Amino acid sequence: MKSTVLARYLALVALTVCTTAWAQKRDDALFAAAQGAQAAVIDTLQQLVMIESGSGNLPGLSRVADLAQARLQALGAQTERIRTSNSERVMVKGSFTGTGRLKAMLIAHMDTVYPDGILASQPYKLDGNRLYGPGIADDKGGIAVILHSLALLKAQGWTDFARITVLFNPDEEIGSGGSGALIESLAAQHDVVLSYEPTAAKSMAKVEGVLLSAAGTATATLEVKGRAAHAGAAPEEGRNALIELSHQMLATQDIAKGIPGAQLNWTYAQGGLVRNQIPEKAVATADVRLLKPDAAEKLKAALLAKTSESHRVPDTHVHVQLEVGRPPYVAGERGTALAQRARAIYAELDGRPLFFHPVTGGGTDAGFASGSGKAAVLESLGLAGWGFHARDEYIEIDSIVPRLYLTSRLLQDLGKAP
Ligand SMILES: [Zn+2]
Repeated sequence: MKSTVLARYLALVALTVCTTAWAQKRDDALFAAAQGAQAAVIDTLQQLVMIESGSGNLPGLSRVADLAQARLQALGAQTERIRTSNSERVMVKGSFTGTGRLKAMLIAHMDTVYPDGILASQPYKLDGNRLYGPGIADDKGGIAVILHSLALLKAQGWTDFARITVLFNPDEEIGSGGSGALIESLAAQHDVVLSYEPTAAKSMAKVEGVLLSAAGTATATLEVKGRAAHAGAAPEEGRNALIELSHQMLATQDIAKGIPGAQLNWTYAQGGLVRNQIPEKAVATADVRLLKPDAAEKLKAALLAKTSESHRVPDTHVHVQLEVGRPPYVAGERGTALAQRARAIYAELDGRPLFFHPVTGGGTDAGFASGSGKAAVLESLGLAGWGFHARDEYIEIDSIVPRLYLTSRLLQDLGKAP
């Protein structure tokens, strides 16, 4: 018993010493290789940006998939195109088999929010430290970082992993409805999932970072069924669904305040058909944000309890629904440990700081990846940039080398872990 404890303690000391020594020293060969790869990354970014790939642009998405698949094959991956479950869009999956124990998955998305023809008004262009183009940060930069980091690792002869899986999906900007389930089930087969959404540009956030949590989304619906009647001749025969809906909306407007990690706002409603009829039906919809895995369940239970507590209009029926979209992403203890490793790796680059963004209101596929709770998940390992979902989207060129170094070094480090 005692010797086991001692052995564990010694192993811990060895690990700590080893980690400390490692954390202090930059891998010069890897860093030089990352520097050497910068021009090729820019070339890849240009190729990706020049293919317009809005979520609705299926031919464009297919061309991005062709490019990504060819690159993965050239790196030695087994590749597959997998149709999304709800459309013709395809995902690209690449699998690498090594000789070690680590199972890691790297994810990024191929679609953008921009309409077809966007390049005419928002062209690809270089300006100082900035490289502009629609989707260049969100999320073509993520695809480029993954491809070129894997190229660096291949050039180093790195095989210290059991499996590296790469998944590029084509529907992130519209909720990942056709790819989220696969991301979740694949993630559960890996120890670690690294997600490559962009991080905020230094011109905005001062320091490059990673992301520790993101809200999940859901839609709450209240549907009231009453009884129609002539509003002038026999209003007492009716059961006004609109009045009952108003009552229930007021009763539940603050319901999420008592539930940690939940937020609810009624955002639109519809009731009644014509002026001279007591409305039979009324429906309200709420925008719901979730920051804890169990918040959806609790919110639904609270809505059900509250709406059955009192009725303003007798004989009306209230139906509550809560439809969960993208689940919340919470790095938790294991994701935060990954972030700490990332920070130590960044520190090797002349003490470059790495900021931990606590939360974002935007959704991310890291939510699906962390759904099963089996893999440690870290988000925002893509390039530093700004203007996502807006105008003049750009990346900062001086984030390319640090980000290539970060992913390569992090994977190597994870490959060594006991
Ligand atoms: Zn994105």
